[in-house]
Amino acid sequence: MNLDVNTLFMVTIYVEAILGLLLLFAWAQNTSIRAVAWWGFAHLIRAASVVLFGMYGSAPDLISIDLANALLFTAFAVTWTGARVFDGRPVEPVYLVTGAVLWLLVCRLPVMSDAVDARAMVASGIITAYTWLTAYEFWRGRSEQLVSRWPAIFMLFAHGALFLLRTPLVLLLPWSPNNAMFGSVWLTVLSFEALLFTISIAFILLAMAKERTELRHRTAAMVDPLTGISNRRAFLQDAALLAKRHSGHPRPTAVLLIDLDHFKSINDRFGHALGDRVLELFTDTARQSIRASDLIGRLGGEEFAAVLTDTCRDKAVAVAERIRESFAQASQEVDGRPVCATVSIGLVHCEEAVLDIPELLAQADQALYHAKERGRNRVEVATLAMLLQRKDDEQRSVPTSATSIAAIGAKSAAA
Ligand code: GH3
Ligand code: MG
Ligand code: MG
Repeated sequence: MNLDVNTLFMVTIYVEAILGLLLLFAWAQNTSIRAVAWWGFAHLIRAASVVLFGMYGSAPDLISIDLANALLFTAFAVTWTGARVFDGRPVEPVYLVTGAVLWLLVCRLPVMSDAVDARAMVASGIITAYTWLTAYEFWRGRSEQLVSRWPAIFMLFAHGALFLLRTPLVLLLPWSPNNAMFGSVWLTVLSFEALLFTISIAFILLAMAKERTELRHRTAAMVDPLTGISNRRAFLQDAALLAKRHSGHPRPTAVLLIDLDHFKSINDRFGHALGDRVLELFTDTARQSIRASDLIGRLGGEEFAAVLTDTCRDKAVAVAERIRESFAQASQEVDGRPVCATVSIGLVHCEEAVLDIPELLAQADQALYHAKERGRNRVEVATLAMLLQRKDDEQRSVPTSATSIAAIGAKSAAA
């Protein structure tokens, strides 16, 4: 197949320019992701380089080959810089122009002026280097869970590999019979691949930027900004999902409701900022006491909840005790102040096939109420008697939950 190269060039210029403008337009709408502007400029620079390539024969080689290639390499360097900016790394002005400068120097060497293959090899090497560096930047940032990162890495790696393989392939497969530059099947293949690559990569890069924006919005809506763990909404959603996964397969599960003791008095004595530090400290110690697969969230204020899966009752009590003890130990001194904070924990254990999370939280709340009543800094396990008591009190509308006793606790702490 041999496409008309002039038409291909026109289409490429048009597509590159449109994609560049589209990316810049997308960036103007959300300027927080600056990389999109870099990628937009990369496409515009590539469009300019193709304009110069298209002038081959009518303009001096210095413009249609040397300068055109220098611009093309700069476009790849700008895409690479965009990838660095995307993952918060600094711009490297020297490396940004290294490819173009190296190329222009090579072109000036007398020995290279007629060595077409050698020049093609240098050009391929520069493109491969920038493309693989871009793939490497995206790979380095893989801890950020963006699905579109992976097709970007694959595309960039494949494009770089094609350019690297170009030289040996050229030697294996014949050029066009008259060996004229524009009649070459290779130029057609490479131009066509470059066109497909540029369209695909523009869409993938845009998808990455969009995915990151969505991820940030989702995170802001689901993560407690102070402690970095799930907020109430996310915790309840995750717990509901877990309950759904469990349905039909009974597994021992424990729900813990944890409330810091006399926290108001900690704020009053040491200030709100230190109170915040205590909440962070609690989160850190609690996370160290549970497994990564367990759920933990901040329900609000100084109240936290955890769901321990596949955990027998004794083990769940041991984990709750560990949380209580390790926090009491860690908070003896916070930022040089003798805080000595403690927590009360209400625990409910369940072996049912269907987990009713709101009901379990209500039972844990009941146990927490008893922990507060019996002196705080302790773990209480929900019992059948507590359950019956709650049902009875609910019928008589008597407040007996930990939420209601918190106010009583505040008064006694202040007294
Ligand atoms: P109890 O032992 O009964 O639980 O008493 P308590 O003082 O811990 O409970 P109370 O509900 O009376 O007070 C909770 C306090 O937690 C009041 C509020 O100012 C404080 N608080 C809530 N959210 C934050 C926060 O994000 N940072 C800080 N520093 N304090 C908070
Ligand atoms: Mg409290
Ligand atoms: Mg409370």
